[in-house]
Amino acid sequence: MNQTIPVFSFDDPPIRIGHGYDLHRLEPLAPLGSGKPLVVGGVGVPQDSDRPIGPAAHSDGDALLHALTDAILGAVALPDIGQLFPDGDPANKNGDSARFLAEAVRLMRAAGWRLANVDLTVLLQAPKLSQHKIAIRERIAPMLDLPVDRVNLKGKTGEHIGPVGEARAIEAHAVVLLVRAQ
Ligand SMILES: [Zn+2]
Repeated sequence: MNQTIPVFSFDDPPIRIGHGYDLHRLEPLAPLGSGKPLVVGGVGVPQDSDRPIGPAAHSDGDALLHALTDAILGAVALPDIGQLFPDGDPANKNGDSARFLAEAVRLMRAAGWRLANVDLTVLLQAPKLSQHKIAIRERIAPMLDLPVDRVNLKGKTGEHIGPVGEARAIEAHAVVLLVRAQ
């Protein structure tokens, strides 16, 4: 890897920041509702509940990968995930969201950028993500060609209030830093 430090210029700074956000409504899994099995950052999250819930979505409903995809696209000022992968497109039905992320990374690289680090936050009332955090970071890091210590994940609840706290929604935020590839 080239270790040269990019030359800083206020006219064309060699860094970019991006933020992504996503929310999915949570519903009982089929046949009780239209929820799909809960997947966070490409990792299936099991639930002890006798009434498991999951995201209502056209794709697999992976809010974390959707937020991360949008953060990368946003940093490069490219069209967002909804524009690149429309809900109405049958090709995206039940789609593996890793495909969306891979395309965003491809477009980012084609535009001359590489990732420095990503910082992710998931808001979910239950189940707790703490025991899945390492697995999620280890799943995402190779998709970004980053070491795990540059892919951070924080899990929070909704404190039993609002859509997240009442287990009616999952939310995710992603912040990414890009550095110009030499
Ligand atoms: Zn989404």
